[in-house]
Amino acid sequence: MAIIITDECINCGACEPECPNTAIYEGADDWRYKDGTSLSGKLVLTNGKEVDADEAQEPISDEVYYIVPDKCTECKGFHEEPQCAAVCPVDCCVPDEDHVETEEVLLGKQKFMHPED
Ligand code: SF4
Ligand code: SF4
Repeated sequence: MAIIITDECINCGACEPECPNTAIYEGADDWRYKDGTSLSGKLVLTNGKEVDADEAQEPISDEVYYIVPDKCTECKGFHEEPQCAAVCPVDCCVPDEDHVETEEVLLGKQKFMHPED
């Protein structure tokens, strides 16, 4: 399961530098699969989706910080608990019921993005 940021977010920015997958972006900013990962060029994700890791993608929110579900591993492979939720002062980083994944899948995503770790 990925984590999602709700519209309670106060745009403090505390979570962004804590994400080991660079899955968190400021509202209205473009995002890329390659940011903070080993991904580059055209590739097929572990969920079968074909993407271009170098291509700028549309922001998921224009108002508040947001999390890219394909890049979030709930911090599996790096930390015991989601770091964004741990630092958020208003507790608005919550489980995303629309992106439920097993621990095995999450660890597979982490290895795919960071094969060198
Ligand atoms: S749970 Fe971890 S990997 Fe997911 S967005 Fe938060 S800090 Fe990043
Ligand atoms: S730490 Fe919480 S309030 Fe601050 S930017 Fe991140 S999600 Fe928003």
